[in-house]
Amino acid sequence: MASPESNIWPDGCLGAVSISFDDGRPSQLERAVPVLDERGLRATFYLPMRGENWREGYAPWVDVAANGHEIGNHTKSHTCSRNFSFRKDGTGLEEMTLEEIEADILEAEDMLRELVPSQTERTFCYPCYQTFVGEGATRQSYVPIVAKHFVAARSTGEVGWFNNPLKIDLHCLNCASYGHLSGIELIGQVERAFQKRQWIILTYHGIDAGKPAQEFVEMCNHLAERQGRIWTAPVVDVARHVRDFRASTMDTPE
Ligand SMILES: [Zn+2]
Repeated sequence: MASPESNIWPDGCLGAVSISFDDGRPSQLERAVPVLDERGLRATFYLPMRGENWREGYAPWVDVAANGHEIGNHTKSHTCSRNFSFRKDGTGLEEMTLEEIEADILEAEDMLRELVPSQTERTFCYPCYQTFVGEGATRQSYVPIVAKHFVAARSTGEVGWFNNPLKIDLHCLNCASYGHLSGIELIGQVERAFQKRQWIILTYHGIDAGKPAQEFVEMCNHLAERQGRIWTAPVVDVARHVRDFRASTMDTPE
């Protein structure tokens, strides 16, 4: 029997895959972007807009965006829990307010719109997968802040966690880090998601030279050879499609 998810995906595709990269690391430009571009695959790159010289530092990403990849918002300050001791002053999300995290996100958004003016709608990625400010009795989710400004946001999950397009909270999308899997394991995960007619989001940080890069190529070959059956697209494209599909089914008269 056809599942309710069966007819959501465009052009007869069985499911969707989004490949996402965090933090704008050099290996993404060196090893991921060429592999994706050669195969006509489009991904999402979440850049934290840190640094005095961000215009120069992020200049290579202008070309990446021109090739159809999404440049996503990853805040300006990339603040995570103080538990990680990332900051010299010892503070972290525990010391932030909702107003401060919103200002940080919107500052990054202004910078991204200057860097890539053609992309006016994008998705968000929670730094360190963390969705809160404050601590203990004053700890609050900042998911509602993100939902005000973005079509969707990538949260966290584990390998094997996919997104049911009819049920998932678009501002807390499941994803997992897949960089440690072999090519055949990656392909297996993608195929499992499609058996369920769902949306799989793969997260990468860097792609090391040698075997990890080869595993990535193997998966990309699989996706490229099956375009038409597998919809590979940036997070923003799939999120827009899911949002619009849900809205259209809600509007259907009785
Ligand atoms: Zn990050």
